[in-house]
Amino acid sequence: MIIPEKQSVDLLLIHAGTLLTLDKGPSGPLCGSETEDLGEILDAAVAIQGETVVAVGSTSVMQSRFSATRVLDVHGRLVLPGWIDCHTHPVFSGTRENEFAMRVAGSSYEDIARAGGGIRSSVRTLRLTETEDLLDLLLQRLDQFLLMGTTTVEAKSGYGLSTHDEVRSLEVIHQADQIHPIDLIPTFMGAHEFPDEFRSDRDRYIDLIIQEMIPIVAERNLARFCDVFCENEVFSVEESRRILLAAKDAGMLLKIHAEELASTGGARLAIELECTSADHLVQIPEDDIAQMARSSVVAVLLPGTTFHLGKKKYAPAQIMYEAGLPIALATDFNPGSSMTQSLPMITTLACLQLGLSPHAALAGITRNAACALDLNRSHGRIAPGYQADLVVVNAPSSDYLPYHYASNRVHTVIKRGQIVVSEGVRRTP
Ligand SMILES: [Zn+2]
Repeated sequence: MIIPEKQSVDLLLIHAGTLLTLDKGPSGPLCGSETEDLGEILDAAVAIQGETVVAVGSTSVMQSRFSATRVLDVHGRLVLPGWIDCHTHPVFSGTRENEFAMRVAGSSYEDIARAGGGIRSSVRTLRLTETEDLLDLLLQRLDQFLLMGTTTVEAKSGYGLSTHDEVRSLEVIHQADQIHPIDLIPTFMGAHEFPDEFRSDRDRYIDLIIQEMIPIVAERNLARFCDVFCENEVFSVEESRRILLAAKDAGMLLKIHAEELASTGGARLAIELECTSADHLVQIPEDDIAQMARSSVVAVLLPGTTFHLGKKKYAPAQIMYEAGLPIALATDFNPGSSMTQSLPMITTLACLQLGLSPHAALAGITRNAACALDLNRSHGRIAPGYQADLVVVNAPSSDYLPYHYASNRVHTVIKRGQIVVSEGVRRTP
């Protein structure tokens, strides 16, 4: 009898009690009831060579096929693809807990913004902060993301709002991406707000974005996406269209903050311009949901923002689910309207306030979030050829993650094949 020689790999993770591959169904995002089958394997193992997953299967079969330099026994814990936060604003200096207290006392987010607070207050602070301090703050926040299981983060500029400070913010994102294990996907968001100096001349600020910022950002390849805050009193649909078209012409992919506080037509603009994602969508009209479901736009829902703003109306996720619109979830981490870096907390809110099942919520922070970042071929699944980004959770089953809320259950994080968190502690490989 010939015993076939085992293939040797760098790392073999074994005895995952439950492992979700997310590698099922059609090639794109998972929609509606497709999210109920996430490719569950019990007592699972994953073989990793370098930065890439080689194979996934049951522990007994995998142990017969592979020998490994390092074997990691996870003792029945839950294993998922590394979480992807597809909407964050992490480059800021200074926090806004004073506004939180004002909101608790009855002021609205819009009132605070009108009075000069909100985004513009963060802009004033960022402009006074040295670049190395901005980088340091971002790196500390990325460590926190990693400890909470997040391995890929979309990161927007948008607290600079001058050519110098927007470029500086994007450069900080690039530097952090080089230094830190987390993959950062940079988004240019000069159209986050109108800065103080352009309040009475909005057209000149839009010209500055289109004629100066976008060409420099594109020329220096500083951003993969361009995003616009399309909202009453911020950027109108027409203004958003001009900016996004200029970014598209310059080679960027598009995102849009749409229909958050009011219904303004942002969702239709996302469909028209073939944005990769439309984000927030709390106030999206029902007709537009059906239309968006027939397009390639991914809906990114941010229930943490609704929660943190103390609003009662959440995005109509169940109608989206029924319509077959793919749903991704993100924290919207920012110092004003969503001061959290916890994607598990977002899954809890998605279940309780959006009415999604635990499995639909998990698809929202893995495979569908990868689709919202155009990373569907490399991130968001545990499958051969995919980047070896895995999170090991102190949980007996997948439903447990949203159930045990406001608790960090992350045990081990593997990023590009390296163990970067173990026993809940950050490790340097
Ligand atoms: Zn946002």
